[in-house]
Amino acid sequence: MQTNRPFEYLIPDSLTEVVVPGMRVEVPFGRGKRKIQGFVMQVKETSDFQGKLKPISRVIDLKPVLSNEMLQLSYCLADRTYSFQISCLQTMLPSVMRAKYKQYVIPLDKEDEEVQSLLNGKETLEITNQLDDITIRLINRLRQNNKIDIQYVVENQALQIKRQAVTTDLNVIQLHEAKSKLRANAKSQIKLLDFLAHHLEELPVELNVLQKEFGISRSAIKTAEKNELLQIIEVTKLRKPVGIDPEKTTKLKLTEEQHVAVSEISAAIQSETPQTFLVEGVTGSGKTEVYLQTIEKALQQEKTALMLVPEISLTPQMVNRVVGRFGNQVAVLHSGLSSGERYDEWTRIESHDVKVVVGARSAVFAPLDKIGLIIIDEEHEASYKQDDNPRYNARDVALWRAQMNHCPVVLGSATPSLESRARAEKGVYRLIRMKKRINNQSLPHVKIVDMRDSENSAIKGDFSPALKESLQTTLQRHEQAIVLLNRRGYSSFMMCRECGFVLKCPNCDVSLTYHKDLGKMKCHYCGHEEPVPRICPNCKSKKIGFYGTGTQNIEQQLNTLFPEARVLRMDVDTTRRKGSHAKILQKFGQHQADILLGTQMIAKGLDFPDVTLVGVINADTTLSLADFRASERTFQLLTQVSGRAGRADKTGHVVIQTFNPDHYAIKDAAKQDYETFFKQEMYIRHQANYTPYYFTTLISVANKDEGQTLKQSYWLKKQLETSLSKDAILLGPSPTMISRKQNKYYYQIIVKYKHEPQLHQKLLEILNETQADAKKGFTIAIDNEPQHID
Ligand code: ADP
Ligand code: ZN
Ligand code: ZN
Repeated sequence: MQTNRPFEYLIPDSLTEVVVPGMRVEVPFGRGKRKIQGFVMQVKETSDFQGKLKPISRVIDLKPVLSNEMLQLSYCLADRTYSFQISCLQTMLPSVMRAKYKQYVIPLDKEDEEVQSLLNGKETLEITNQLDDITIRLINRLRQNNKIDIQYVVENQALQIKRQAVTTDLNVIQLHEAKSKLRANAKSQIKLLDFLAHHLEELPVELNVLQKEFGISRSAIKTAEKNELLQIIEVTKLRKPVGIDPEKTTKLKLTEEQHVAVSEISAAIQSETPQTFLVEGVTGSGKTEVYLQTIEKALQQEKTALMLVPEISLTPQMVNRVVGRFGNQVAVLHSGLSSGERYDEWTRIESHDVKVVVGARSAVFAPLDKIGLIIIDEEHEASYKQDDNPRYNARDVALWRAQMNHCPVVLGSATPSLESRARAEKGVYRLIRMKKRINNQSLPHVKIVDMRDSENSAIKGDFSPALKESLQTTLQRHEQAIVLLNRRGYSSFMMCRECGFVLKCPNCDVSLTYHKDLGKMKCHYCGHEEPVPRICPNCKSKKIGFYGTGTQNIEQQLNTLFPEARVLRMDVDTTRRKGSHAKILQKFGQHQADILLGTQMIAKGLDFPDVTLVGVINADTTLSLADFRASERTFQLLTQVSGRAGRADKTGHVVIQTFNPDHYAIKDAAKQDYETFFKQEMYIRHQANYTPYYFTTLISVANKDEGQTLKQSYWLKKQLETSLSKDAILLGPSPTMISRKQNKYYYQIIVKYKHEPQLHQKLLEILNETQADAKKGFTIAIDNEPQHID
């Protein structure tokens, strides 16, 4: 059974001073001989435990793997995400540290007598559980005095890159003596000894480098080795993420708006104020330059900086901008890295080799210290929230770390989340608006195409005459186009092709979804169900049906319409292989293609000067999501993708095809008018009691037996009712979108509330009580402020 309770153990005399918080240890647990891994949370002089304390068996780490900050964070994280502290602690570490690896002693002070005796003439010493306590204590003391370091090496040999390198134990005088003894015609030996004498400080040097860059032959090296003039050793070369070698960039001269943003944020960095800024800047307003110059400010203050970006926009373009400015002071953490590479980056951060970390969600746990600035780009992105345990939102973790580090947080977006924008409205966050594009370039011209009208409803494929014509013009001008197929939604909602009507729940104002197993339309929030309509309830047309098209199909249509155009397709299928995402973008960037066709993944962060047209095939899909954020997601997507057009000197055009041309999310996105959208959407959220007016918690129950799942769900609902006031709204239990996954039935309960002081405690109790049920095959998940409801 999992628990959040810490357990007390005795530190054996042999391990006093060795055991410190943040280390992992092995301890006996329970009655049998079972040993488990634990994290040292705290070291105390005395214990209140009544019985006899068991001793720690051994230490797993010889240096703490988690800082005090991270240990503190784990308490809050477990509490806030209704998860177990142990899973929070593990989430903070790179995955290889959960796998098998070895630890080695690396000498830092080779002259030290104790170091020499420890290593006993060897280059390193592997730390195994065979080592006696005296040795462990010695290792610990030497490490604290910076005479040695401990390095983790993943056991999987393939992950290590070992290189042969040359070093020497002779000093300059000895090298010269050796040289004078050589015959004058031993040219290559002389060259080698000269090299060593001149580069003593830089040794060891890789054998490869010596051969390739300094023209010293392998045989010369071998001869010198035989004569004991040098030694060949193995070194572990730190891997560097691939494909990063951008040109160095320098500071741009800031525009007026950028200048205001940079100076406000810089002032907070300087005064160490944990203020949160919301930078609401239209697409192309130059937010990245604001990030770069404020990061520079933090570095000038001898601090570090953390920048989070959504995985999907962790494109080479974005990474290059940061690495181009700060070079090898930057560590990049993204899902394309192997676990070994990820671990290397983690080590570089932990050992203070880097000052700037750029990464996706989990990078928020990067072991940086003295953080001077945290940036969250595209702060509205749902991917900052983890869908599995612990269900944390990187945005919350960032705010917490900012408090601990006394540093500002910058949330940046052209389309902020309603939660953040509402907080700015209340003065909790400082709002900085950037309304103009760089060079005063106008926002793109957007044309909304009404797919219901006679001209368009008659077309065979998915391209309206207006979009076809715009594509034609763009191709003729040798400019580029981006075509978005909005596919986030599932084809399980119903829409009328005659009038754009979408079938919605009468209680919840979200779309109903089709449940195949029931043959009915159902609401995920409250469980309301009704039969599948045969005719449109709005206009009586028979053209009501399920909705959805694939990218491959659109690609074929493009090939038929424009046989001469070069089309690149980017979707989950074409980007499965490592690096393919980057390759497609590179190709497009070099204008080796005319049209980039893709799903949501092409909507963000791309900055290509030749793109003058953006076409959106189906704006309505996200609008029909069975989620109260459907309008927000649609507005964000359309604004972001439109923002890809006309970023350089040429004006951009956007064509949006929709069956709902009068919907405010579409109309406001066409004008790139966030503020108007915000006001309208806030009104609707207020009417329907949704975020940010209400907090939301989602509790889901799963079991192989549907009857049991329902029973458990109703029991949970009863439990919750006892602790809630009459102002809270309890919805469900209702089946989730796919009510049966891996042979388990899923039901969910939604709590909407404003102020329920007892709810948190109750949920923690439920979490603990239902532990026993886990054995019976129940899974219970509590999701605080869910980003998707399905
Ligand atoms: P955003 O992220 O706000 O959409 P970007 O940061 O991508 O916008 O900036 C848009 C373009 O403007 C980029 O090509 C960038 O290099 C350029 N840019 C940004 N700031 C300046 C500046 N001060 N002077 C000139 N060009 C700039
Ligand atoms: Zn209709
Ligand atoms: Zn409903």
